[in-house]
Amino acid sequence: MKGVHIILMGPPGGGKGTQAKILQDRYNIAQLSTGDMLRAAVKSKTAVGLEAQTIMETGRLVSDDLVMRMISERMKWEDCSKGFILDGFPRTIVQAEMLENLLAEQQRILDKVIEVRVPDDMLVQRIAGRFSCAQCGAGYHDVFQRPRVEGVCDFCGSTRFTRRADDNEKTVRSRLQDYHAQTAPILPYYASKGLLRIIDGSLSIEDVTEQIEKTMAV
Ligand code: ADP
Ligand code: ADP
Ligand code: ZN
Repeated sequence: MKGVHIILMGPPGGGKGTQAKILQDRYNIAQLSTGDMLRAAVKSKTAVGLEAQTIMETGRLVSDDLVMRMISERMKWEDCSKGFILDGFPRTIVQAEMLENLLAEQQRILDKVIEVRVPDDMLVQRIAGRFSCAQCGAGYHDVFQRPRVEGVCDFCGSTRFTRRADDNEKTVRSRLQDYHAQTAPILPYYASKGLLRIIDGSLSIEDVTEQIEKTMAV
């Protein structure tokens, strides 16, 4: 299968979702965020949602099995025919191994793994100010990315916004710990295959996008 297949890696609050949405429009490929999928499942109280809810609230990772079932179903959708950007997945070595099999089965070739690198002390501020449109899901920040018109979503005009239950200082710390202990160890594997590209995620949203695009072009 032809198409573009990218993994966006980075710590919680590092800007993966923000960049993935920009790339989705630019390359006309699907954005697959396991976090968004899990939150949608929790909201609609499906079996997956009920299983994941308590774990997500404490900031731990949900089981590899559950995530794999969810993502493999999602990859069958029509919007994945030209490829996809994986955002927040894989998050463990086991997930990375299972992803490799899944890609091979579907004859998809991984183009690049982009690590958005951001120092830990910046992440707390990013996460504490994060909110999103309750209607279309567009992401915002109290300081760094305010709606153009105060209180109105730039994209859909909604005036309702939400904050994530797990975006508090306590869970941020355990999410960060999990990132360093379980997710970051995947990176050397992709580096050894020559796929890893490291981006400075501490810059502005526009500058990060520009770096990613430069990386995509080579
Ligand atoms: P962030 O945007 O802060 O990186 P996500 O939206 O990606 O967070 O994920 C939110 C929560 O959903 C995680 O803390 C975890 O509990 C769960 N989750 C998301 N993706 C995965 C995954 N690939 N494996 C295990 N748990 C996941
Ligand atoms: P992730 O998906 O990696 O958890 P998000 O994309 O949700 O991260 O970004 C976390 C928060 O930081 C959001 O409120 C977003 O608006 C903001 N943000 C994202 N990228 C940047 C950036 N480069 N500079 C400043 N704020 C950013
Ligand atoms: Zn909106």
